[in-house]
Amino acid sequence: MNPYELISAELKKNNVTLVAVSKTKPIEEIKGLYDQGQRIFGENKVQELIEKQSLLPKDIEWHLIGHLQSNKVKYIAPFIAMIHSVDSLKLLFEINKEAQKNNRIIQVLIQIHIAQESTKFGADEKELIEILEYYCAENSSLQFIEIVGLMGMASNTDDATQVSNEFLHLKSLFNTVKKSYLLNKHSFNQLSMGMSSDYTLAIQAGSTMVRIGSLLFGKRD
Ligand SMILES: *Cc1c(COP(=O)(O)O)cnc(C)c1O
Repeated sequence: MNPYELISAELKKNNVTLVAVSKTKPIEEIKGLYDQGQRIFGENKVQELIEKQSLLPKDIEWHLIGHLQSNKVKYIAPFIAMIHSVDSLKLLFEINKEAQKNNRIIQVLIQIHIAQESTKFGADEKELIEILEYYCAENSSLQFIEIVGLMGMASNTDDATQVSNEFLHLKSLFNTVKKSYLLNKHSFNQLSMGMSSDYTLAIQAGSTMVRIGSLLFGKRD
């Protein structure tokens, strides 16, 4: 079995969705995985994403996993399936506006800062609650986005206990906000956590969606 077959079999057993992270990889390699059956691909840069989207089969479900600037939302709004990296109300409003223009609903995850490093993007718990209170308000203008869960990146460390604890913390935050705000929103059911180096720990902690690049495509330059 090749790495794709091994990983997808393992994920299937656990009911976890695979986002194949194809950033920096050429069209032919993405097509190679597509031909083996993969349909969900993740990119972290808008420019690269729109280029690839225009060249590859239209039934690919594209996920944006990297930081998104408000002024670039319009380029991906016509086709993007899910945005994993929403960390402010301002960005959410912009996505909602562009989704409306395109007459579609865009699924988003709220990215939460769980790592110790200060370089990683993401909302804190206070910002998350602010976003959810707005989203759940009776008169919310956010009719063209759907918050389907949370995303997080653990610290880049060999300390498995620390990584596990960060994932468990996100899982517990997910459970708490689901209970407090989103009980009647059944689509709030995704927890995007885990990459090549830590996806096993993420699954043990309750991940429903992993973002794997280098294990599938080989190391990036
Ligand atoms: C690059 C990237 C990944 C995948 O990383 P690998 O270590 O290659 O699996 C996952 N999530 C985000 C947000 C990324 O930018």
